[in-house]
Amino acid sequence: MRPVLELKHVSHVYVSEKEASLAIESVDLKVQPGEFISLVGPSGCGKTTLLSLLAGLLLPTEGEMLFHGKQVKGPSTKVGYMLQQDYLFPWRTIRENALLGLEVSKQLTDNAGERMEQLLADMGLDGVADRYPHELSGGMRQRVALVRTLMASPEVLLLDEPFSALDMHIKLQLEDLVQLTLTRLGKTAVLVTHDLAEAAAMSDRVILLGSRPGRIRQIFDIPPDIRELPPTAARRSAGFQDLFDSIWSELEAEEGEEADSP
Ligand code: ADP
Ligand code: MG
Repeated sequence: MRPVLELKHVSHVYVSEKEASLAIESVDLKVQPGEFISLVGPSGCGKTTLLSLLAGLLLPTEGEMLFHGKQVKGPSTKVGYMLQQDYLFPWRTIRENALLGLEVSKQLTDNAGERMEQLLADMGLDGVADRYPHELSGGMRQRVALVRTLMASPEVLLLDEPFSALDMHIKLQLEDLVQLTLTRLGKTAVLVTHDLAEAAAMSDRVILLGSRPGRIRQIFDIPPDIRELPPTAARRSAGFQDLFDSIWSELEAEEGEEADSP
């Protein structure tokens, strides 16, 4: 199968007036259609940088970033980006927020309203379209943000710590809901998270990054019996603790080496 996204020997250097710093070095990564992958690793290892490269918001300093085999030259509506903060506009209703992307890109068609209502219903948000963001809980707002991202019909969703500001039980519910929705819609997803259990429970593959410079340290293929379960059930399944421990110990080793280096 041809990958949806492919990074080929990608390095990224941030350049400021004073210095240049190598954030990502020589990363090779293929993301297959319909795959759900997570990026984990110590703070500052380049997870957000990698996601921005996949989004076309940053261009590689070296190497190539491909979308369906074609070189990426900038952001595309085919690749949706969702952040930890929901960035809903407080003065717009949920409906107006959810349709914002289409409005800006002048793709607002007659059936968009219907599609939005359906997506809101899928997300358990019936009847909120005329409310304002401050009337909703954090978990509801994140679901609206996901609806807004999905309204642009992206093939790929890039999610940067979308659940990390939420209470544990809301976060668990959202993990199930998001995984179910993305699978049903056949979306490809790349999730950045600092929560190793979340990564292991939601993904087909977990990519552990190492620091200074950011690079791929290890890739964990999640066993099929865990992969097939919804995240909350995966967390309770027989092999989950061992899987978690193996990712955890590799992350600890990475952090140890980081602390030892000058
Ligand atoms: P993570 O998301 O894993 O915490 P980031 O991708 O945000 O890591 O950052 C990776 C490295 O690049 C860090 O050392 C960070 O300080 C640096 N960095 C990130 N953004 C910028 C920027 N805009 N300018 C300069 N350096 C940056
Ligand atoms: Mg980050």
